[in-house]
Amino acid sequence: MIRINENYTKLKASYLFSDIAKRVNAFVAAHPAKPVIRLGIGDVTEPLPSVCLEAFHAGVEEMGHRATFKGYGPEQGYAFLREAIAQHDYAARGCKIDADEIFVSDGSKCDCGNIQEIFGTDIRLAIPDPVYPVYVDTNVMAGRTGANTNGRYEGVTYLESTPANGYVPAIPSVATDLIYLCFPNNPTGAVATRAQLAAWVAYAKANRAIILFDSAYEAYIRDPQIPHSIYEISGARDVAIEFRSYSKTAGFTGTRCAYTVVPKSLQAWDAAGNAHSVHALWNRRHTTKFNGASYPVQKAAAAIYTDAGKQQVRAMTDFYLGNAKLIREAMGRLNLPCVGGDNAPYIWINTGRDSWEFFDQMLNTAQVVCTPGAGFGRCGEGHVRISAFNSRDNVVAALERIARALK
Ligand code: PLP
Repeated sequence: MIRINENYTKLKASYLFSDIAKRVNAFVAAHPAKPVIRLGIGDVTEPLPSVCLEAFHAGVEEMGHRATFKGYGPEQGYAFLREAIAQHDYAARGCKIDADEIFVSDGSKCDCGNIQEIFGTDIRLAIPDPVYPVYVDTNVMAGRTGANTNGRYEGVTYLESTPANGYVPAIPSVATDLIYLCFPNNPTGAVATRAQLAAWVAYAKANRAIILFDSAYEAYIRDPQIPHSIYEISGARDVAIEFRSYSKTAGFTGTRCAYTVVPKSLQAWDAAGNAHSVHALWNRRHTTKFNGASYPVQKAAAAIYTDAGKQQVRAMTDFYLGNAKLIREAMGRLNLPCVGGDNAPYIWINTGRDSWEFFDQMLNTAQVVCTPGAGFGRCGEGHVRISAFNSRDNVVAALERIARALK
């Protein structure tokens, strides 16, 4: 008799965005004449930068000719992209990351979901609350947690982000082995200072732990004091893996390209206390289960690192940050405290009310979709996330509707 992986039965009934989609679809079916503006799911709306589109087209064209056709590429990514990443995303910021420490993939969701596979099933986890749900759910699937009671899985140290700590969690008082951090944060939009990241690196070192640093939104950082990479912190090469994605940087949510940095100096231990190279383990996993991102997509991603590409990416992220500024100003006029939006495309609003109730009010009276904070974890209760990913007209219209609805 075929049996299931019973860890899946511990997962909460459905994924946050499918719950939202159900409510939105029901509303749309009942009110077809009332157009809904979606500021919920973090999906981009602006088309690809023209440099990426041209490189993408050129890459596709190459595939159509015998002389330039490409079959399977290197699983870890083409050298032209890995070298551009090492130079522009790391060397330019003073970080020593070699091209062969970079693993190109078709998305950061897969990378931050899959990475846990190479670690023991009995390790201690530290996971933020509120959080991008992938970190928790993939560990539940792998059997690293107990049951979920009152929105918390047994066996996880939750790193609470609250108004009291400015939504940057404190270092836990207990030892943990695998620590998930995300800055600029999804969902709160909060950023971590150099000193805060240095404290995490020191904690990881002291505990022989590994930090999984998700910097999917680093392209939105405008404050020059805020690190873009964990490797800007001295010693981080020995304790951290970093995830980056082109999804929000350059509108690649539908094009799919990302990368993960696994330094060769990173070690983890077996039960007998022998050290192993984490780079070698991830390389083994990646080459066994992944066959490379497509060539034209990698060409499109590499175009981001040209001068024109950098300008176009900056213009695109500036545009979304312009939306974010309007959202923050509007929330200020409504006396709703919020964070985020200045170095991140998300605004995290402290509504002081049940977050699904606030979501329903926004949907039913303003026809605006936001994301209820409770869906990101217990500490998200009382908050909603509004995303800056939409056209300027839609953001302006949504803010007018919200102001009317809350009057
Ligand atoms: N990490 C965070 C924090 C995200 O918010 C997202 C997407 O929303 C991802 C990773 C996944 O990005 P990708 O589109 O590369 O899979």
